[in-house]
Amino acid sequence: MASFTLQGIPVSRGIAIGRAHLLRPAALEVQHYLVGQEQVEAEVLRLQNALAEAERELQKIWSDLPADAPSELGAFLDVHSLFLSDPMLAQAPLEIIRTRHYNAEWALVTQIDVLLAQFDEIEDDYLRERKADIEQVADRLLKLLTGSATTLPPNAGVDELNTHMIVVARDISPADMMQFQDSAFVGFVTDEGGRSSHTAIVSRSLGIPAVVGMGNASHLIQQDDWLIIDSVAGVVIVAPQQIILDEYREKQAAIQRFRKKLAKLKKTSAVTKDGTPITLLANIELPEHAAAANEVGASGVGLFRSEFLFMGRDGILPSEEEQFEAYRATVQAMKGRPVTIRTLDVGADKPLDEADVATLNPALGLRAIRYCLAEPQLFLTQLRAILRASAFGKVNILIPMLSHLFEIDQTLAMVAQAKQQLILQGIAFDADIKVGAMIEVPAAALSLPMFVKKMDFLSIGTNDLIQYTLAIDRADYAVAHLYDDVHPAILQLLAMTVAAADKAGIPVAICGGMAGDIKLTRLLLGMGFRELSMPPAQLLEIKQEVMNIDLLLFNPIIKKILRSYEPEVIAEGIRALQLL
Ligand code: PEP
Ligand code: MG
Repeated sequence: MASFTLQGIPVSRGIAIGRAHLLRPAALEVQHYLVGQEQVEAEVLRLQNALAEAERELQKIWSDLPADAPSELGAFLDVHSLFLSDPMLAQAPLEIIRTRHYNAEWALVTQIDVLLAQFDEIEDDYLRERKADIEQVADRLLKLLTGSATTLPPNAGVDELNTHMIVVARDISPADMMQFQDSAFVGFVTDEGGRSSHTAIVSRSLGIPAVVGMGNASHLIQQDDWLIIDSVAGVVIVAPQQIILDEYREKQAAIQRFRKKLAKLKKTSAVTKDGTPITLLANIELPEHAAAANEVGASGVGLFRSEFLFMGRDGILPSEEEQFEAYRATVQAMKGRPVTIRTLDVGADKPLDEADVATLNPALGLRAIRYCLAEPQLFLTQLRAILRASAFGKVNILIPMLSHLFEIDQTLAMVAQAKQQLILQGIAFDADIKVGAMIEVPAAALSLPMFVKKMDFLSIGTNDLIQYTLAIDRADYAVAHLYDDVHPAILQLLAMTVAAADKAGIPVAICGGMAGDIKLTRLLLGMGFRELSMPPAQLLEIKQEVMNIDLLLFNPIIKKILRSYEPEVIAEGIRALQLL
């Protein structure tokens, strides 16, 4: 068979080699026949049973989700459940059976075609992807009606010769995709889908190479064809020649070697080619995570999200003693390297207790420092515990979500009060402990003089800064496509923050998601950032990138990016930085 190459959208990095395993949509095998009047209600019941069974399947997938399953998955399952109960899907086909006497499958595909035709009128990419959800729900129902299996056999993913398989499908629902998590499948190729499609998001979370939006790959590829997925370039090579296979096996081995090599950078200093030292820190959620930070040689903990000590405890707050032990354990595990403990950031998407969620708009409600100032005893208890831990190593205190001067003043007064209480009790702490502000509300980034005068350091929470600046709820998948970390507004706020901190001579870090995104490392260092805090898993790759950077070459491009309000010019500038 002649080899050919198909182009698609790369969604998760890596190379996969294996044989094709085709997943055919059930709609292709649907029978069309008319049922007699006396059979109509039985046919209606068959479809109703399939609807109920599909809902049970979704619930089962929900309850089987592992704790570390990507959070978007729950949302996808909810969307599918919603479709299942929508009258357009749950009622209209029943009417078609009753009025036109179609068999259940035919009635269902007839109604689905009507719904899909409505979606075809829509230009919007995001809504087109919701069309894929309807198709996936229909596919689940049809498989139940026709009795074809939707679950994978236990040995799925390898053929009889133990060769790994690659899933090729028109589309794969995120729910079905979870089945592949522990299987031996090594890659995904789908006709449908875009960069923000469910398949894309889940395969990225699973870390499995995938190319989506391939048009009609599932028709061009045959069962058992040899495939190479190059999800860096976004291509799939079908029936590759031996020489190409060998070349890709070598590339795959090189990626493995790269990962091993990265591990050797653990003790190397993060210094750019021009000699600029960069501080790479770890974000952690619990004291146990300090081990992962040490494993990658982090220079310290740049963000300890202390709220994780408070969550999931049925409202029973950790005592001062319990908190102190947790902070001390972290500080001691970091062996003298600094630990920046962020005070409690609850509310909004991080409720202490499920009952707290029922506020009008939690992201704009009593969250983080607002919550702490409204609960002074809780805040003082935490501040005392953090201060006590500072006697055992270098500790900084970081305050989330500040936006008003009076919040800064009240916070500093409470730190002073906590210190005073410890002095009276004769308990040791670091009298010179530094207190910093998170810059994560646009109001803060636009009133930096207020912050640099009173705070010892700044740390930018880009996750929230983007959420609040672009007015997109970071937990709402429906607006996820509007998330843009290089929106000119975000870049302006970052530039203003680093300039104000430099002018005031105080340190500034980034601890939001942008800090761990390797595509942005050059941009951020070029803009003047010297401290980045990120999940430990990203740290070594970022270190390697830092070591390849010559900042002396960056200035003209950075200036051009920051002067521009054209997304294309900004994107072009970021690409140009990668080439230097
Ligand atoms: C942020 O907002 O970028 C941040 C680091 O804090 P969190 O993600 O915990 O809100
Ligand atoms: Mg935040």
